[in-house]
Amino acid sequence: MSEVIPFYSLQHLHAALRDDMLAAMTRVYDAGSYVLGPEVACFEQEYSAFNQTAHTIGVGNGLEALTLALRALGIGPGDEVLVPSNTYIATWLAVSHVGATPIPVEPDITTSNLDPQRLLAALTPRTRAIVPVHLYGQPCQMPEIMAFAQQHQLWVVEDNAQAQGASFAGQLTGSFGHANATSFYPTKNLGALGDAGAITTNDKALAQRLLRLRNYGSPYKNYHELPGYNSRLDELQAALLRVKLRQLATVTQQRRQLAAWYHTYLGGVAGLRLPAVAAGAMPVWHLYVVHLAQRDALQQYLANLSIATLVHYPVAPHRQPAYSPPAGRAGYHLPIADQLAATCLSLPLWPGMTEKQVAAVAAAIRHF
Ligand SMILES: *Cc1c(COP(=O)(O)O)cnc(C)c1O
Repeated sequence: MSEVIPFYSLQHLHAALRDDMLAAMTRVYDAGSYVLGPEVACFEQEYSAFNQTAHTIGVGNGLEALTLALRALGIGPGDEVLVPSNTYIATWLAVSHVGATPIPVEPDITTSNLDPQRLLAALTPRTRAIVPVHLYGQPCQMPEIMAFAQQHQLWVVEDNAQAQGASFAGQLTGSFGHANATSFYPTKNLGALGDAGAITTNDKALAQRLLRLRNYGSPYKNYHELPGYNSRLDELQAALLRVKLRQLATVTQQRRQLAAWYHTYLGGVAGLRLPAVAAGAMPVWHLYVVHLAQRDALQQYLANLSIATLVHYPVAPHRQPAYSPPAGRAGYHLPIADQLAATCLSLPLWPGMTEKQVAAVAAAIRHF
């Protein structure tokens, strides 16, 4: 019987952090302030320092972070927003939630990330913004995307949900765009113990607007300037995220080591495409995703050996019922997104995974 290798495990990290995490919970419990208290304020400052941005606004989750960022920038009905064709559906949903239309742009097939060369063809007089997604923790080519946005007077909202700590040309993702969204869903690189998210920005006026939007449009009690939302980062989650943020650099190092081992152990397998890293990119390996034609067969083969894998994502947003074209209207033609969805496989990777476990996964793949 071979060793069971889970796709992801928080066991190792959470064992090491147990005392600090429980102390954080106790602190919130005893302080008695549970919504927008001191832990949220401290986490926002600490995350801003980490991400090298002037402002962080803690919100309820990643989808709401994206939605509020678009809303704060004034994007709404009649507007078009360029999004990757192969992202997690939240990126598209945020655009839909503000009443705008997501316009898919196909990725570079080698990096799975937005291809700046394809932006121009998607541009129309209605285009207002671009949402680049740093998929799998691989940073997009932000300098090129920002230059394009400036040239065409577009807003940029980075979706940094999978890439806390990644950088391109030495600058951290989540610090390029005008307002950037991230998620602290438990399995993200920086994960809470429940739902949580944030927006980062260097624009003070935008930050002020976001602080109001997340809290009933209210700058102070009983005064509502805008029709806002209730999307606040939870005080308890903020206290836990402060503990985890202190470990993030170490966790990122571990992820980079695991990816390097996969690269070494999986080199030269015919028909297996390993993740490519663009020049200037420093990924944080939220996921280690390989591509091969016989994806389903390999996944089943590994499952039989008790090696768990996942597919991110098996069905591209344009194939989801939520985005099916109205009757009589032509559907999307996005062959790269379809091809990536049919061939991608995410291998096990988590902080605390060993070189031996990576080698065992690689050996099984070679055997297949
Ligand atoms: C997880 C994720 C989101 C959404 O975050 P939630 O906190 O789950 O709402 C958005 N975009 C990407 C790329 C994600 O991976």
